[in-house]
Amino acid sequence: MSRNFAFKIIAVSVALSLQTPLWAADQELNLYSARHYKTDEALYKGFTETTGIKINRIEGKEDELFERLKREAAASPADVFITVDAANLQRADAAGLFAPVKSAELEKRIPAQFRANDNAWFGFSYRARVIAYDKDKVKPEQVASYLDLAKPEFKGKVCVRSGNHPYNLTLMASIINHHGAAKAETWAQGIVANLARAPKGGDTDQMRAIAAGECEVALTNHYYYARLADSEKPEDKDVVSKVAIAFPDQATQGTHVNISGGGVLKHAPNKEAAVKFMEYLASDAAQAYFATGNNEWPVVASVKVDNPQLEALGRFKIDPLNASSLAKEIGTAQRLMDKAGWK
Ligand code: FE
Repeated sequence: MSRNFAFKIIAVSVALSLQTPLWAADQELNLYSARHYKTDEALYKGFTETTGIKINRIEGKEDELFERLKREAAASPADVFITVDAANLQRADAAGLFAPVKSAELEKRIPAQFRANDNAWFGFSYRARVIAYDKDKVKPEQVASYLDLAKPEFKGKVCVRSGNHPYNLTLMASIINHHGAAKAETWAQGIVANLARAPKGGDTDQMRAIAAGECEVALTNHYYYARLADSEKPEDKDVVSKVAIAFPDQATQGTHVNISGGGVLKHAPNKEAAVKFMEYLASDAAQAYFATGNNEWPVVASVKVDNPQLEALGRFKIDPLNASSLAKEIGTAQRLMDKAGWK
């Protein structure tokens, strides 16, 4: 090696070490995310810009990440697990993956309804499970309640995704909470008896099926409708011209809402950064992002929502059921839906 070249290597090494502060090892966050919304990139960028903490993100399907976390156990590099639905958060918690977080900031900003009773997990946005219906064939008063979908008048007219999907499991858990297991079971049987086709596809597919004349009513999360309403694609515009959505149970308990959220993992190597990340997700900037990025409502009530699609949906009465109460009934929900044959 020439002396000149060796000197260059030393110079580069010195320059690199100057750029890398001693605390660099603490300034990282390992995030496992099962949120499946393309627009989340900007959300994570905001955290690094605000705190200087780099995020190493592993995205995957809910089940894959859950199994991976269980397998990695104490050796897991993951600090935070982000996912959708109280059912998934509950499953992770029941597997002992989360450690409760003591944060005055999180407790102040996130209403008790949207977090676990023991603060093992927190919701950062909420979404409504609504009824989509054919504007020409169905009157909104026919779909004033989730229970209406099980009525004989909708025989052969209901489209819905799998009964194993968390969105439907948690809705079923809310029906168990409000009406008891026996009535909830009858409801699930009624849905199965009314199916226009075997459950398949995602929520958007159910709305497309209404527009195609395959069925007249369906269940969907509200943001899938908002996404279609915001789309410039002719096929999406066509769906929105034929399909409307109703917020069920406005005269009674209110419309079922679920959360997207996460928790700090029990074996998190970067616990401090993890709590900072959770607090960031409850900040005004991140909260506003949920509303603009994926058309969800921020859990922090004081955050201003600037989204024409959400404004168009209007205000509605929210079912105040606590997320932990929902999570508690997921097991029963699964059992009753299996029994009813809601595949
Ligand atoms: Fe979704």
